[in-house]
Amino acid sequence: MMALVCPVDARNPDPQPIAEAAAIIRAGGLVAFPTETVYGLGADGLNPAAVARIFAAKERPATDPLILHVAEPEALSLLVLEVPPTAIELARRFWPGPLTLVLPKRPIVPDIVTAGLPTVAVRVPAHPVALALIRAAGTPIAAPSANRFGHTSPTTAQHVQDDLGDRIDLILDAGPTSIGVESTVLDLTRPVPTILRPGGLPRETLEAVLGPVAVQTRVAEGPQPSPGLLPKHYAPRTPMILVVGPPPQMRSVLRELVARYAAQDHRIGLLVAEEDREAIADLPVEMVALGPEGDLERVARRLYEGLRELDARGLSLIIARDFGAHGLGLAIRDRLTRASGGQVIPVG
Ligand code: AMP
Ligand code: MG
Repeated sequence: MMALVCPVDARNPDPQPIAEAAAIIRAGGLVAFPTETVYGLGADGLNPAAVARIFAAKERPATDPLILHVAEPEALSLLVLEVPPTAIELARRFWPGPLTLVLPKRPIVPDIVTAGLPTVAVRVPAHPVALALIRAAGTPIAAPSANRFGHTSPTTAQHVQDDLGDRIDLILDAGPTSIGVESTVLDLTRPVPTILRPGGLPRETLEAVLGPVAVQTRVAEGPQPSPGLLPKHYAPRTPMILVVGPPPQMRSVLRELVARYAAQDHRIGLLVAEEDREAIADLPVEMVALGPEGDLERVARRLYEGLRELDARGLSLIIARDFGAHGLGLAIRDRLTRASGGQVIPVG
């Protein structure tokens, strides 16, 4: 059985499908819904049995905590022990939006949501469908990305259907998501605010408000010291390599890698920028250009779709290029590094 896919207007969602989806949430069921970042797999965040169904459907380990989605900043105080002035300021500026705040949790938040941690992650998504659903359900909605654990995140309802269609009741389809990478997760429980996961809200934007912000070394600064050690996440089924460095050197290394692997009978796909087209036009490869290298918003929006597109072509190797560490570049690098399982080649 595939999930029922229900089209909804992204700006002005009809009350009828929203009411049906909310009834499923209240009854402890699962609904996939659009946010501005990626599609989420939602359940009643205060109902441990409902949240357990998220982990089961995704095959997600119980050690990986979920984000609670609320419709108003005021709801934060119901979920966390104390709302510090920093959180009030960040909420005022960036909510609704792709920023998740981590704070000490109240007992009302089930342990299964936080993977047993004393902290909870909360955000207000900037999508009319998500907000309408949360309001109609009358409960915070726990929602990770609506994909199987470790696989590429979904930016369309079809992606959700492909990954989880046989495991969920309903998918609200409001078209492709606008940001395309997950939220920035910011831990406010440390002396210095710390980005646990780079995402749709750039570090520089946070620093303009907060001063220095730390980035936990997932892939904070540059390539991983030891390739291959990163757990695979956001990943295509096809093996993948990421090339990091200044664009001209990156392009010549792309060419060398293609020559080497093509000689070993690999069928190769390249995930690149528009500017790379010319340099690789003569190569025996499939290519997806995500956008101009300067337009990181477009690159982020198309990132997961591009990965899925290449993954569907029966290739034996995907080689991706990096887009720098500024602005959305950091989130893009994080996802590509993890998608490659840490197979990163630094150049230049
Ligand atoms: P996803 O729902 O797939 O976007 O993943 C949510 C991510 O948010 C998790 O994988 C963690 O990285 C982060 N997260 C959620 N809750 C917490 C928490 N209490 N402490 C630290 N990180 C968290
Ligand atoms: Mg995810």
